[in-house]
Amino acid sequence: TTNLRLDKLLANLGYGSRREIAGLARGGRIRLDGAVLHDADRRIAVTPDLPERMTVDGDRLDPPPGLLLLLHKPVGVTCSHKEAGPLIYGLLPTRWRRRDPALSTVGRLDKETSGLILLTDDGALLHRIISPKASVPKRYQVTLERPLRGDEAEVFASGTLMLEGEDRPLLPVATEVHDATRAAVTLTEGRYHQVRRMFAAIGNHVTALHRDRIGALDLPEDLAPGAFRSASAEDVERIF
Ligand code: URA
Repeated sequence: TTNLRLDKLLANLGYGSRREIAGLARGGRIRLDGAVLHDADRRIAVTPDLPERMTVDGDRLDPPPGLLLLLHKPVGVTCSHKEAGPLIYGLLPTRWRRRDPALSTVGRLDKETSGLILLTDDGALLHRIISPKASVPKRYQVTLERPLRGDEAEVFASGTLMLEGEDRPLLPVATEVHDATRAAVTLTEGRYHQVRRMFAAIGNHVTALHRDRIGALDLPEDLAPGAFRSASAEDVERIF
């Protein structure tokens, strides 16, 4: 376990500058196991149970680094600072947006795509999930402008479909047809705008796109658009 000075620990969790944390400590507003911590230079062992033991103004401490969040991305928010529009990070509590290490999305969804997205501050975990070697499957529910032709499942499964402007065919994609204009596709790679471009390549157009599964992890039914929660150990197992 890491040992951090109290001011460093709380500054990294977004509670303020080190000077501000020193002020909180002097004011008697930080407690560990019920006892007031007056000194900001006191070293603290950063253990997972710290939120059960430390309070700031009576509220339990935010979780220490090592976070993995499940978030239900609504349509209209972006995963990238490069796109216009409100950022997905705006859905997190203000303090969580100031954390160091910072939370970042595990891969991206388009602004107009909704559904399950993970966020983490753990770089190694992020790479494990997005690594082509892991090839974690992702399922998308697709609504189309025009009726399906009937051969989509075969074309997508063939491993020969070429996207506009690329020189390597797509890996096979599994398709489930729900009705004339609705289907689900499961990808094991994630090329730029892949689902929209796959349907464009066969003369259709995606009007709504929603990711409902990563690995064997389903978007929780009780997670409303815009809401998030911490992943449980079972959630993590379902990803891989
Ligand atoms: N494919 C897309 O086209 N968009 C997404 O957001 C995800 C997959």
